Amino acid sequence: MAPPNAMNVPFLDLASMHEPLKAEFDEVWAKVTEANAFIGGTWCEKFEEEFAAYIGTEHAIGCANGTDALELIIRALEIGPGDEVIVPANTFIATAEAVVAAGAVPVFVDVDPDTLLITAEGIDAAATSKTAAVMVVHLYGQPAAMDSIVAVCEKRGIAIIEDTAQAHGATWDGKKAGSFGVAAGFSFYPGKNLGAFGDGGAITTNDGALAEQIRSIAFHGRSITSRYHHDNMGMNSRLDGIQAGILSVKLKHLDEWNAGRQRARDRYEAGLTDLELVKVHERAKSVHHLCVVQSDNREELMAFLSERGIGNSIHYPVPCHMNDPFKEWAPKVAPVVTETAAPKIMSLPMFPALTDEMIDYTLKAIHDFHAQ
Ligand SMILES: *Cc1c(COP(=O)(O)O)cnc(C)c1O
Repeated sequence: MAPPNAMNVPFLDLASMHEPLKAEFDEVWAKVTEANAFIGGTWCEKFEEEFAAYIGTEHAIGCANGTDALELIIRALEIGPGDEVIVPANTFIATAEAVVAAGAVPVFVDVDPDTLLITAEGIDAAATSKTAAVMVVHLYGQPAAMDSIVAVCEKRGIAIIEDTAQAHGATWDGKKAGSFGVAAGFSFYPGKNLGAFGDGGAITTNDGALAEQIRSIAFHGRSITSRYHHDNMGMNSRLDGIQAGILSVKLKHLDEWNAGRQRARDRYEAGLTDLELVKVHERAKSVHHLCVVQSDNREELMAFLSERGIGNSIHYPVPCHMNDPFKEWAPKVAPVVTETAAPKIMSLPMFPALTDEMIDYTLKAIHDFHAQ
C-alpha cells in the first residue's frame, strides 16, 4: 500500500502568481477591449518598450510565439537554403524547427557535461564555410558561456541568435541573456518565467534595420512606410494587445519571482544528497526555469514521486536529432553528452511560490527512494 500523501507538490503553480494580480488583469481586459486594441497598438508598444529596457536592448518586437521569434530572426538575416545553422543537440525541438522552417540546415552539436549547454568548443568544431549562425540556447534558465562563445563567433564570422525562451532575466557576468547576440527570441508561453495567458513571443535586438525587417516580415511583409505595399515575403506573427497588457503587469514581478526560484534552488541544493543537480556556472545567474537532476533509475524515481503526489517531468527525453522529422540531419559523430544525459535527466517541481515544506517533502521522498 502506498503511504497516504502528506501533501501535493505541483510541478508548476501559476495560480499562486496570478491570484494577487487579478484586479490588474481585469483592468487590462476592460481597457484593451474598450479601445479595440486587439492586435499591436498601445499596449503592445508599451510592453515592447518595457521589455527592451528590461533586457537592455534598443528594440523589442512582439510576435505570436517563441518559435516564430526565432524563425523571424533567421529569415530577417536572410539565412536560408544552403546555409548551416549550429544548434545544440540538447534543446527543445522548437529551436531546430525554426531553422528548418526558414529553409536552412540544422547542424547539431554536443553540450557541456556540467551545464548541458552549448559551448564555444562545440561551435568551433562544427563551423564550416557554410555556417551562417548559431542558436545559442540558454536552457533551463541558465545563460551559456557567452564570453567564449562571442569570441569564437566573432573570429569565425558567425551570427549569434539567442534562444532565450527559458531565460527571461538571466545574466552572464551581469549582462542579460538576450542582449549578447545579433538578436534573441523569447517565448511567453504560459509556463515560461514570464508567461502570457496564451501564446506570445518577442525578439530583442540592438540593430534598428534588423528590427524593421523583422516587424515587416511578421506583418505579411508589409512596407514600413506604406500599408498597401509588401516589400518582403511575410507571415502573420503578431502579439495580441490583451497578452501585451498582461505581460506588462507580470514583468514588474519577474525579478521577485526569479528570486523565489533561486531560493527554491538553494534549498534543493543544500538538501539533495542522492542526486546531482545540473550545475550552474559561477559567472552565470540562472533564473531556474527548470530544476533538472540526473538519475540512473529515472522511470522508477518518477513513478515513486508521482505516487507521493510530487509533480515531475522530462526536458527533453529524446534529443532533437533522434526525432523522425530531424533524422536526415543527424550528426555523423553522435553527441555523446546529450545522448548519455537524455535517459537520465528529469525535472523537479520549480516555481516562485514553492514552499520550504514542499521542497523538504520532495527531498525526503528522493531520499526515501534511494534508501529502500
Ligand atoms: C518554449 C521554447 C521555445 C518555443 O516557444 P513557443 O512560444 O512555445 O513557440 C523555443 N525554445 C525553447 C528552448 C523553449 O523552451
